[in-house]
Amino acid sequence: MTSTRWRNWSGLEEAAPSEVATPASVEAVVGAVRRAREAGTTVKMAGTGHSFTAIAAPEHTLLRPDGMRGVVEVDREAMTVTARAGTPLKDLNLALERLGLSLHNMGDIAEQTLAGATSTGTHGTGGTAAGLSAQLAGLELVTGTGEVLRASAEENVDVLEVARVGLGALGILTSLTFHVEPLFVVEAHEQPMTWDAALASYDEMVAAAHHVDMYWFPHTDAMVVKQNVRTDLDPGEQDPPSRLAAWWEDELVSNTVFGALCRVGSRSPGLVPRINRVAGRALSERRYSDLAHRVFVSPRRVRFREMEYAVPREVGLDVLRECRRVIEASDWRVAFPVEVRTAPADDVPLSTSHGRDSLYLAFHVPADTDHRAYFGGLEPLLREAGGRPHWGKVHTCAAADLAPAYDRFDDFLAMRDRLDPDRVFANPYLRRVLGV
Ligand SMILES: Cc1cc2nc3c(=O)[nH]c(=O)nc-3n(C[C@H](O)[C@H](O)[C@H](O)COP(=O)(O)OP(=O)(O)OC[C@H]3O[C@@H](n4cnc5c(N)ncnc54)[C@H](O)[C@@H]3O)c2cc1C
Repeated sequence: MTSTRWRNWSGLEEAAPSEVATPASVEAVVGAVRRAREAGTTVKMAGTGHSFTAIAAPEHTLLRPDGMRGVVEVDREAMTVTARAGTPLKDLNLALERLGLSLHNMGDIAEQTLAGATSTGTHGTGGTAAGLSAQLAGLELVTGTGEVLRASAEENVDVLEVARVGLGALGILTSLTFHVEPLFVVEAHEQPMTWDAALASYDEMVAAAHHVDMYWFPHTDAMVVKQNVRTDLDPGEQDPPSRLAAWWEDELVSNTVFGALCRVGSRSPGLVPRINRVAGRALSERRYSDLAHRVFVSPRRVRFREMEYAVPREVGLDVLRECRRVIEASDWRVAFPVEVRTAPADDVPLSTSHGRDSLYLAFHVPADTDHRAYFGGLEPLLREAGGRPHWGKVHTCAAADLAPAYDRFDDFLAMRDRLDPDRVFANPYLRRVLGV
């Protein structure tokens, strides 16, 4: 074991674990948990550090996920696939593609580990397919007492129900089983729109598409809207963008030029409104079709900090309008677009979409920018609207704020008492959001 620092993707959170290990088997995970329990210390398995919060920050022992990768079982009858918990989502997507299979939906990157993404309730967008945790059919975890527990519809159903969004607080996940479907092709339509036109047609777009993602450029009327509609094309019949077009839009405009504009905006905040007008028009209308996972996921090379709240779908657009009013009444100069997504209600107790259709509103600043005035200025109104913060994105809520937002919060705490009675998996973030 070596001693080394842990740092998250945005650079906002750091920790200095006293021990680091990379277990390659369930037995090695059990050994690490038992040692920590006997010593009265803590152990934390991290993913790829893509959470903006300190949810993965280790206090004592850090377990890295790299030794626990790969698909272990494919059940074509049940249409499920099991993979080891440290598998990056992008590796699962490629393995599924080779098998002619696909996840139903996912977020906008695929760098995260399967365990990391599900543990914080990572979601995509669209009115029909819920987040990654709701796509779980089973899981295996090592509890805080070193017991190996399997949970599925057949055994430990209560554990499966709660541990799908487990915040890293219930155990160390060693494998995850996802419901899958045959590989499918979506047609992507990306277009600039005005604020009024996009909001007026939002419900219609969500009803007509599998996946709708909207970006509003603050201080302007400009929106970019991405709609992805499922097709009945067979894999192989899709018409993806040419390499040049993909490089132009996804690398040059969305990353290189956008990154440069953010740097100019950071140095000269007064220029931000003008820069946003240019950025809002820079992405041109385009249509193409491709395998779902290639369309849903885009490269994100400009580092940032993010806060995201899920608010009830029926008040969501009004909350967005109110956020715009507050931004325009402030002296903040916001260089990053506000992202608007949706997800259907699910039944995972600590999912941000638990029990209600949601609209997700996400706010970003460049990674080197102080986010506190902007995020802190919007948080009261998001919370007032019944908002639930993404567990992996910046927020200031504590257990007393979160308990009333989730009607199964106490069930989660009870499961934690059962699976981790000695708090072997605790860290400062969990003490804040769970209270004990
Ligand atoms: C550029 C970018 C884009 C993003 N896009 C989206 C998006 O589209 N939608 C969305 O909802 N979120 C998105 N996120 C947030 C991201 O999906 C989540 O924060 C996710 O948790 C990160 O996964 P990770 O593997 O990096 O896990 P980490 O952040 O390293 O860890 C997250 C949690 O998982 C726990 N964990 C990891 N492995 C295990 C294990 N084996 N057993 C138990 N617990 C474990 C950790 O302890 C921690 O509690 C994005 C983040 C970034 C930086």
